[in-house]
Amino acid sequence: APLEVGQLVAEVVDHFRAAFERPFTVEVPRDRVWVHGDRDRLEQVLVNLLENAHKYSPAGEPITVRVEKLEGEARIHVQDHGIGIPGADQSQVFQRFYRARNVSHRNFGGLGLGLFISSSIAKLHRGSLTLASSEGHGSTFTMTLPRMASHEVKRLPRRVLLLDEDRTQEALA
Ligand code: ATP
Ligand code: MG
Repeated sequence: APLEVGQLVAEVVDHFRAAFERPFTVEVPRDRVWVHGDRDRLEQVLVNLLENAHKYSPAGEPITVRVEKLEGEARIHVQDHGIGIPGADQSQVFQRFYRARNVSHRNFGGLGLGLFISSSIAKLHRGSLTLASSEGHGSTFTMTLPRMASHEVKRLPRRVLLLDEDRTQEALA
């Protein structure tokens, strides 16, 4: 179903703001960013990435979520300033049950499934999940999804487009 990424991100981050005392920053383009997707599953990816950012970064450090509208695709970046992932582990953290060597069960609970599930969901949407990280400095996870073509967006029913009149008008202008 058609889904507006900026709206989804804003909603999910609001839940995290309510639950955790930590600065969360959201950067969303003025334009609406429409994708075809399963709302519950894409929300689960965001929750997994935000939970990781929260778990693997010190209290008080900000977490930033940024939505980018590119030619043909949408990107959602979740950035933290936490423990980071050692270079040698970076290609493996998307595997089932894999946990990097700088996390221990004693200090950070978890099974090593969140990223495996998230990356599967991104692929099911013909997208991808990638990471950039530096051990000791932080991580940025990026989900890329194919964007709906503008002629498809223009055909959406008015009730779907009327999420936020101002942003919708600008996006269609
Ligand atoms: P869970 O199944 O509860 O999500 P998990 O968080 O350990 O457990 P994943 O979310 O799949 O599992 O992440 C896999 C591993 O990748 C983590 O164990 C950790 O080593 C590393 N990792 C993931 N996100 C981050 C992050 N934001 N900062 C540092 N390390 C991370
Ligand atoms: Mg996790």
